[in-house]
Amino acid sequence: DTPANAIVIVGTGLSGYTLAREFRKLDTDTPLVLITADDGRSYSKPMLSNGLAKGKSADELAQADVAAMEENLNARILTHTRVEALDTAAGQVQTDQGAVPYDRLVLAWGADPIRIPFGGDGMDALYQVNDLTDYGRYRQRLGSARRVAVVGAGLIGCEFANDLINGGFEVDVVAPTDTVLPGLLPEEASEAVRRGLEEAGVRFHLNRAVTTVEHAGEGVRLGLDDGDVLEADLGVAAVGLQPRTGLASEAGLETNRGICVNQTLETSHPGIYALGDCAEVCGHVLPYVMPLMAAARALARTLSGTPTPVHYGSMPVTVKTPACPVAVCPPPANSDGNWDVSRDGNSVRALFRGPDSQLLGFAVTGDYASEKQSLSKEVPAILP
Ligand code: FAD
Repeated sequence: DTPANAIVIVGTGLSGYTLAREFRKLDTDTPLVLITADDGRSYSKPMLSNGLAKGKSADELAQADVAAMEENLNARILTHTRVEALDTAAGQVQTDQGAVPYDRLVLAWGADPIRIPFGGDGMDALYQVNDLTDYGRYRQRLGSARRVAVVGAGLIGCEFANDLINGGFEVDVVAPTDTVLPGLLPEEASEAVRRGLEEAGVRFHLNRAVTTVEHAGEGVRLGLDDGDVLEADLGVAAVGLQPRTGLASEAGLETNRGICVNQTLETSHPGIYALGDCAEVCGHVLPYVMPLMAAARALARTLSGTPTPVHYGSMPVTVKTPACPVAVCPPPANSDGNWDVSRDGNSVRALFRGPDSQLLGFAVTGDYASEKQSLSKEVPAILP
């Protein structure tokens, strides 16, 4: 019983809710329906990896329940409802609760944590924390824990490691790479982050792959490829995210790393849009808050009748590792140029300059992290 002329948004994460809010500033009447597989509580996902040290439970991270969101947004929100297929010919989405018609459709359904099938019987003891429900389970399990093993030393793995150390836990981090934050930071900067975290008490096991995960009493035992064994009360897996593209490609929408959209956030199918962690905008997959906010503002205007391309300026990423603060603007892939690095202890300033000495990217750690704003202004826009 949803109206046929509705704008339907799939997903009530930061993308879905920000879009709905921005749209309602411009259009108070058009029926709006949001569909979510979860309970529809509004929360800020970045808090999942620093909520422990701040002493926040899942309930405390929730900013509004679904009834409040329905009222604020003048929208219908279908919770615990999973979209299973897009029927573009009929103009409806198939869900596990029935069909929902749309006039225009927005995909804001995020990304899946990558799950590496390690050997052993303990995969269920490896927590993946990608939403508020996951966080609630993780916090509950932490209640009786002392020692935690984190698999992965990327952005999310390092943030969880820092949060757990600050929360008073013993932390081991295992990763197959020789550095932390691989691919995101030049070597000197990632070394500074590793040292900062080690000084705070994190134990790294780099160049080591996990081969098996087994239950060990109430806890978990990780087997490593050098024969070493790590015991912990629980494991946290943070080995990356993959944009959810499956249902879109089954429906014939163009997908690549994400769901491909043009600069007005429209997919290859007219009237269907995508933003946030599931989207690839003109070739860019940027699974961060700043880009999704810019996309939500532009798409709200488009949906309210003024076609508006999204523009991305420079998009610095801040890594929430207080043991060694980091901000980074990676240079565009395959850029010509060189890193120029200066260092004072764990404070590193790495500037990537092109042949004409233009600043194309940077990474700053420690005391230099505060230079993020001024450096960002010099870096060219990602999507002018
Ligand atoms: P999500 O929040 O994942 O929302 C997806 C929604 O779609 C959910 O409501 C889900 O239930 C729904 N859904 C999925 N599939 C279906 C389906 N088939 N049917 C119905 N509903 C479905 N970014 C930063 O910029 N700064 C940070 O400090 C930062 N920290 C982070 C820390 C952590 C631990 C994580 C995991 C991410 C962090 N990020 C950070 C990234 C940022 O949080 C995300 O880019 C952003 O929250 C993505 O929002 P989204 O709405 O696109 O996706």
